[in-house]
Amino acid sequence: MFSGTKFVVDAFRYGEIEGISSYFLTHFHSDHYGGLTRSSTFPIYCNRITGNLVKSKLRVAEQYVHILPMNTEVNVEGVRVILLDANHCPGAAMLLFFLPDGQTVLHTGDFRADPSMETYPELLGCRVQTLYLDTTYCSPEYTFPRQQEVINFTASTAFELVTLNPRTLLVCGSYSVGKEKVFLALAEVLGSKVGLSRDKYNTMCCLESQQIKERITTDWKAAQVHVLPMMQLSFKNLKSHLARFSAQYDRLVAFKPTGWTFSEQVQSVEDIEPQISGNISIYGIPYSEHSSFLELKRFVQWLKPLKIIPTVNVGSWSSRKAMERCFSDWLSETRAKL
Ligand SMILES: [Zn+2]
Repeated sequence: MFSGTKFVVDAFRYGEIEGISSYFLTHFHSDHYGGLTRSSTFPIYCNRITGNLVKSKLRVAEQYVHILPMNTEVNVEGVRVILLDANHCPGAAMLLFFLPDGQTVLHTGDFRADPSMETYPELLGCRVQTLYLDTTYCSPEYTFPRQQEVINFTASTAFELVTLNPRTLLVCGSYSVGKEKVFLALAEVLGSKVGLSRDKYNTMCCLESQQIKERITTDWKAAQVHVLPMMQLSFKNLKSHLARFSAQYDRLVAFKPTGWTFSEQVQSVEDIEPQISGNISIYGIPYSEHSSFLELKRFVQWLKPLKIIPTVNVGSWSSRKAMERCFSDWLSETRAKL
């Protein structure tokens, strides 16, 4: 809760909280909306895409979902708020609050920091005192390529493999929302549709993207790119998936867009090697929707907040201490440069 307000952000797991009047939701990932159900009857504030998902997937009643515009200052209970693109999953927003006591607070939700954020006029026009920061990868070992590089690698690998053997079925793993760019790039390079389950199809329709809508179908046979839940991407499952389409395909290549994994440290896309078993190949691709360590550092050094509150990996004392040390190093470095 921020001083002088009755606001909380991404705090639904406690049900209705005494003294809280407005519940903000940054984006539609379960570790953020967890606890929100069809019986939730308190005011929820989010943007349109997240609101569509909350209503359609969680069945929260329309009257409790308050849709806020992007990049536009709005007034929620006398407090000025602006939603900004977080470069995470579709609908993900950062929240900029101008509190009654004069403090400016930025809550990143989950985000992948990007130099383009340094040109957001809303951030250029204010001085952020307190930053609530997505610290998923706040340690120097977390390095991974830029998203576009990974997309290009995935599309060109797929194109090559399908050119060599046109009877190749492509599969892309996914969770709920996020990482759509990976399967869209596959579909685009092949000029194919994307086949997905009815449930996933309905989820994708919440995103209000014409580009996605034109590509997706629930008719698996009409698509050379299939989207399957990430946990189904094992050799055993993929083998039986391929068998269902043996009239069309005799080979399957799967792409697993994960974030950073200890076992598959890749500095560059050239390091990506598939795992192969018979006619099935699985590529783990380092497509991250969270900031790398250096992206976090650059963003913080640009924003220069007075105080940083980490929102991820805060469970252990040692990881909290390590992050505190990081923040103070970053900020003292920028002060030294002044
Ligand atoms: Zn997320």
